[in-house]
This record gives sequence, structure tokens and C-alpha cells, in this order.
Amino acid sequence: MATARFRLYPTTVQEQQLFEHCAHARFVWNLAVEQHSWWTPRRGPAPSFATQCRQLAEARAEFEWLREGSSRVQQQALRDFWQAKKNFFARTHGRPDWRRKRRDEGFRIADTCKAQKLNRHWALVWVPKIGWVRFRLSTNALPDAKSYRVTYRNGQWHVAFAVIPDSIEPPGTGELVGIDRGVTITAALSDGRTLNCPQPSAKEQARVRKHQRRAARAPKGSAEKAAEYAKVARIKAREVDRRKDWVEKTSTELARRFDLIRFEKLNIRTMTASAKGTVEAPGRNVRQKSGLNRAILAQGWGQLRLRTGQKAPGRVEDVPAPYTSLRCSACGWIEKNSRKSQAEFVCVSCGFACNADINAAVNVAAGYAAGTTPRQRSSVREPRPARAGILSPDGGGGCQLLILNPTAGARPGA
Ligand SMILES: [Zn+2]
Repeated sequence: MATARFRLYPTTVQEQQLFEHCAHARFVWNLAVEQHSWWTPRRGPAPSFATQCRQLAEARAEFEWLREGSSRVQQQALRDFWQAKKNFFARTHGRPDWRRKRRDEGFRIADTCKAQKLNRHWALVWVPKIGWVRFRLSTNALPDAKSYRVTYRNGQWHVAFAVIPDSIEPPGTGELVGIDRGVTITAALSDGRTLNCPQPSAKEQARVRKHQRRAARAPKGSAEKAAEYAKVARIKAREVDRRKDWVEKTSTELARRFDLIRFEKLNIRTMTASAKGTVEAPGRNVRQKSGLNRAILAQGWGQLRLRTGQKAPGRVEDVPAPYTSLRCSACGWIEKNSRKSQAEFVCVSCGFACNADINAAVNVAAGYAAGTTPRQRSSVREPRPARAGILSPDGGGGCQLLILNPTAGARPGA
């Protein structure tokens, strides 16, 4: 789900009402987190969604503060919690956590999403119990969305509409591409190109550290401390925007240029998790530049995979890739010594030389590595894998794609 995000400009009165909505949503969310954190086999299961809905109705009957708020905002917070729980069990997201005042100000409205254009630069969004709130229209058209989220951060309100991205038509050329995650670059393509996710420059990182240092020295609760932290947040927000922009452009290009896109399958969670923290919540002592960059690259990779899948539904595959970096894409020989350095691959068997990441990407394109273990290496000696598939003979329909089976040419025992 892509989002279209705009700066929201509530009136002073509306702003107070928005803060109320945020407080209610957070209250309901945290209640759900608390109930679920108490779950143990002996105490019995955590309450179900239906139970929690009933409890919410009871709480609203009891507390005027809650009753005066929007039931839609509150119910949605509960629904969001259950979605977060589902994502957690699907291993795509972390465990739903406590939301704190100031740090997590936001709420979501789903199902009906009313917005209207005022003029070229301004539009209105309907917020329950508040009414029409103005936002700055930075795109030409109003987004076609079913839900939106309002957030407050660093003194700014934003509204983000969840837009279901249009899938992109396959080119129908039968071309396929393999994408391998690089170490120093974000990704290598089997056609020899590399993709580089924008990273903060050394200068930007130094600026972040400077403001963090000043914030740490400033007296607790001072305006100075808040201002320094706001500066840090602004720099980081700019980095995130740049990365998102790159992900959008790159995923569109991949979906447009190739009929089939194969990604090296990686567990993003283990890749980004470290003793120093996670991508979402980096540890306080992340000093090493390498660690930080690795986390950023991992995040960019995860986003790229996600968005490409949305734009090219049914045309993206994940290739389990335990030996892609050690396998020669020319002759299939798997050997540790072929990998001369981080960047250099020279096959000890056939002498094929290539950039190591590109070599791996060609293996990914061929759908390789699953079941190809070093023990089998003497038998894995087939000709250079097909890089492209062929169109079905009848030629009808752009996506009737037959991919050459890369194992078809294997000559066991060669
Ligand atoms: Zn070779």
C-alpha cells in the first residue's frame, strides 16, 4: 500500500480536537497491548477482538472522556492493533508496542474517506467529529483512497492517504531479471547494472551527531534540547523521503522493464536485528557507520521488494539463495575460493571472471541455489543459465511467459 502524504493545516480549535483523537487512539491501543502482554498459558488466552470491542463499548459507557471522542477513531485503533498482531505473527513486523505521548501522535480513519479539492493548492479532508480540515495539495489530483492516517510530529500535522497502487503492465518481452543484495551497493542486477539506495552522506551523519550531542548537553526539558532534537528529526525525515523516492522510481522501472523479477530471498528481520537495536529503534550506541549503513540498505531492500511486488503482482519471485555468491554463473561450479574479494569473482573451474554481485544476480535470475549444495558441485555443471525466457509460440497475451527451466540443461556427472 502506497501512501500519498500531505501537510495538514488545522485551525487552533481543530488542532485541539485532533490531539484528543490521538489521545483516544493511543489509549485504546495501549489497553490492547496491556491485555495481550498479560497472556500466559495459565492465565488463559488474551481477549479476542470481539471481546475487546465489547470492552471498548463498556469503557465508553463508563468514561465521559472516551464517550465524547469519535467511536470510529477508537474502533480503528483496536482494528489496527489486531492487524499489527497479525503482521507480527506473519513475521513481517515487530511486536506491537506501547504508544507514548508526543512520540506517537496519530490515528487512522478507514472505510469512508471523504476529501474534496478546493483549488489547485488546497483540499479538505473530513475528520469525524471535527469536520473538514484543510491540507496542502502537493500533487495534481486528489488521491483515490479508502483510508487515511493523521499524524503529528515535530510540530507538523500530516495526512497520509493509503492508495492501492496500480499494477504495471508487463512489457511482454519475456525478459527476466535477477536481483542480488550487495554488500557495498544496495543491489546488483543480472543485466550488469547496480542499484544504489541513497544513504546519508558523511557530512549529514556528522551533522546528526552534532545536534544529538548538543541535545544531550542541554538541560532536561529545555527549549534548546527540543530544538536540537527537532533538527535531528528533520535531517532524518529528509533521508527517509529520499529513500522512499528511490524505492518508488526503482520499483516502477523494474515492473515496467521485466516480465519476471527474481529477488534473492533474505530474512530482513534477522538481517537488521542486532544487539545495537533494530532499524525502527536503533540502539543508543550505534557509532559504527558500517552498522548504520547496513541497516539503511536492509531497509531500502525490504521496501524495494515490497513495492515491486505490489506493482508487478504475480511477476515477482523470491529465490532462496544460500550459495548464489559462491556459484559460478557460467559453469555452475560452487567454490569458496572463486570469490576472490568482496567485489571480484573468478571461477576456479572455468576461469569466468565477473563482478561478484553481478555473478550472484545472474544466479538469482536463473532461480538458482535451492538444493544446490557444495556436495553436489561435481554434478552441477550445466551450460550458462538462460537469462531470458521466451514468449509462448502463439504470441497471444503479454504474460503467457515460458521461462526456460535452468535445470533442464543440467548434465549430471559431467
Ligand atoms: Zn565457472
